[in-house]
Amino acid sequence: MTNITLVRGDITEQEVDAVVNAANSSLLGGGGVDGAVHRRGGPEILAACRELRAGHYGRGLAAGAAVATTAGRLPARWVIHTVGPVFSAEEDRSATLASCYRESLRVADELGARTVAFPAISTGIYRWPMADAADIALRTVATTPTEVTEARFVLFDEKAYDTFRAALPGGPAGG
Ligand code: ADP
Repeated sequence: MTNITLVRGDITEQEVDAVVNAANSSLLGGGGVDGAVHRRGGPEILAACRELRAGHYGRGLAAGAAVATTAGRLPARWVIHTVGPVFSAEEDRSATLASCYRESLRVADELGARTVAFPAISTGIYRWPMADAADIALRTVATTPTEVTEARFVLFDEKAYDTFRAALPGGPAGG
């Protein structure tokens, strides 16, 4: 079972084995976490993503799926790209959001990554309400069998951090 930790900060500064990127299905960059990962990680990541597009991922990466590349200049070994679902009030897409976390952990296990940093997938440009996203993220990571020893949620602002803390199983703990 993995140890879940919460930190407030920038995911591109995390010294971990793998950083999870909230990518879009093109794999060719975007805003939010994706923009920061490519900016800080440098062109090597985009080159690796282009290779994926030229090969097995010709149609891009589906929502809920995950794939790894080099982390370029980030202080990590790998970036695991996953595509969150766009929030919809009409359609329940929580299974797809849960799949992002499960698939990222599966890829991390394949790589042999033991420490993994996650952003709050889908809560930015894809508009998922933070409290619900936190609930899905924490529940999924807590219940997925994995060799990952630390799953670190990196929350960009105070509000996101507090929301995740309140959603921790067993309620908010100190720290
Ligand atoms: P999505 O398209 O999946 O919604 P975003 O990247 O737009 O992904 O946002 C996901 C979450 O990550 C949002 O809560 C956003 O505030 C946060 N975020 C944006 N930049 C960073 C960063 N550099 N480090 C950590 N979290 C970030």
